Amino acid sequence: MNEITKEIFKIIKKEQKRQKDTIELIASENFVSKDILKANGSILTNKYAEGYPSKRYYGGCKYVDQIETIAINLAKELFSAEHANVQPHSGSQANQAVYLAVLKPGDKVLALDLNSGGHLTHGHSLSSSGLLYEFHSYGVNKDTFLLDYDEIEKIALEVMPKLIVTGASNYSRIIDFKRFSEIASKVGALLMVDMAHIAGLVATSLHPSPVPYADFVTSTTHKTLRGPRSGLILCKEKYAKIIDRAVFPGIQGGPHIQTIAAKAICFGECMEESFITYQKRILANIKAMEKAFNNRNVSMISGGSDNHLVSIEVYKSLGITGAEAEKKLEKYNITVNKNSIPYDTLPPTKASGLRLGSAAMTSRGLEENDFYEIANLITDILLDKSLELNKAYQERVKNIIDKLY
Ligand code: PLP
Repeated sequence: MNEITKEIFKIIKKEQKRQKDTIELIASENFVSKDILKANGSILTNKYAEGYPSKRYYGGCKYVDQIETIAINLAKELFSAEHANVQPHSGSQANQAVYLAVLKPGDKVLALDLNSGGHLTHGHSLSSSGLLYEFHSYGVNKDTFLLDYDEIEKIALEVMPKLIVTGASNYSRIIDFKRFSEIASKVGALLMVDMAHIAGLVATSLHPSPVPYADFVTSTTHKTLRGPRSGLILCKEKYAKIIDRAVFPGIQGGPHIQTIAAKAICFGECMEESFITYQKRILANIKAMEKAFNNRNVSMISGGSDNHLVSIEVYKSLGITGAEAEKKLEKYNITVNKNSIPYDTLPPTKASGLRLGSAAMTSRGLEENDFYEIANLITDILLDKSLELNKAYQERVKNIIDKLY
């Protein structure tokens, strides 16, 4: 083993310890099964397989064809979709492929704005989405912080986009996909739903599915779905060809077969009874946090949560910016991320909010009373203006860490 290899493995060990000893509340993270890790780190990484099963540009693909076919069939079955493309390397690339399939540069798209919970690939000026296409945005209602479908319809009628995008990185309420499809039909637009965050809830019918209503559904596979870090596109059969062509050769070369194998295992795990129990516990655990924050008068965006995440306002309610709060909690081994809130008066580098998710720590066995305690602990830490580390809070963190598997 050379020095560089030794160094890298030493750092991986440290990261493993960090993950083990941390209360992980980043809403987009999770802990995959040993089988998923094994497939993702397997010899499949050695194989080139440009193209699709039985239509490859390389020889020696008979086994990887079997793997990709299993992944495609499982994705279709899990989400009741007509067609699935399992090759996108990430959620961003899944979105990029849909845009390439249906838009020309300069075409109009309507999507949720970043401060209201949208993702960078939904038209941010530095993302290829915002650079190539004319993105317009809808936000959330100023008083309720909820999606206001009548207002979205009004904006859609003004903009007349070719594509409407919904789905979010930071929206804690149920999204009405049927209403979105009605708006899209009314203005003659296609509908794309990016279900990256809620895919696990959708797979278990704990959030309504966008599949019957959307022309295209994109997702990551590593958030509530608890699979490898990767992407997925689902669509109607009539779009199969343009989607497959947009992924390869449109934006990618050889598929990462090792990750596709891990995705197949993930989809299989999602069909087990225990996965439904897991998703139900994710919801119960976020409700426990919601209850604690309510009791402590910590302001939650839209007043609470229907899914795996809750977004809290810290600048006005606790007197600390999101960036400062993130740093302070990290000192206690609590990992969160700062997030802009709707109509934020602070820049994104400071932000007024924190986004907290329950998917990762539910995977490691925490229950409602633990999440209730975590929300109280976070509130205590953020209200405490002392610069010294507080031993009592450290002890409370340790009590939680000691319970994790
Ligand atoms: N779409 C949404 C809604 C997301 O939240 C994210 C990532 O957090 C992405 C797309 C991008 O996924 P990736 O990081 O895999 O590119």
